[in-house]
Amino acid sequence: MVTPESRASELLLEIYRRLYALYGPQHWWPGESPFEVVVGAILTQAAAWSNVEKAIANLRNEGLLNPQGLLSVPVDRLSQLVYPSGYFNAKARKLKAFVEHLYLVYGGELDRLFAQPVADLRRDLLSIHGIGPETADSIILYAAAKPSFVVDAYTRRILSRLGLIAADASYDQVQALFMAHLPAEAALFNEYHALLVRLGKETCRRRPLCAACPLLPICPTGRALPPPP
Ligand code: SF4
Repeated sequence: MVTPESRASELLLEIYRRLYALYGPQHWWPGESPFEVVVGAILTQAAAWSNVEKAIANLRNEGLLNPQGLLSVPVDRLSQLVYPSGYFNAKARKLKAFVEHLYLVYGGELDRLFAQPVADLRRDLLSIHGIGPETADSIILYAAAKPSFVVDAYTRRILSRLGLIAADASYDQVQALFMAHLPAEAALFNEYHALLVRLGKETCRRRPLCAACPLLPICPTGRALPPPP
């Protein structure tokens, strides 16, 4: 951690206020039901969202976008249906692993899975084949509507440039920073993550466009760069 603990909370809230003031609400996550959000969280691993939407549409058109449907469909057929999202054989196995766990432990009921405290739910999700920390946190935040901050490559890049984390910080270290220094509110975590993604895509790119960035006054990296010609 680069920033003293006492400043982290203040800085994280300042970042949020600046991004929200510029971009406004981002209206994430797309999904018609919690189960669809779970499926999307698994399929979006290393995939563009537009391709995930095609795979989800295939499942919906076949009447399979529900726990019973995914449990009963043969894995080969499932692979064909999720083909647009890439890594289709691996993702079909991951979807199968999720619904098999859901039936084995929770009788196929998402509500029972999601009824657990966040820490228990996270531990349980991480025990399932194919669910890593980012997918688990996405499921908890966007499908269960519980506060578990989602960290991605944009988050790491922005926070590293802001001096809030070391460049080689682990997923869990970055996530712990948000969990320890923000109010535990799902709506705040949801909006915050979406705002960071927007900044990472539009401004804090690999080659950052600092002159247009709302975080420039509080960003040591941006302020150290020479002004554009
Ligand atoms: S000022 Fe530049 S480096 Fe800092 S967050 Fe903004 S775009 Fe990224």
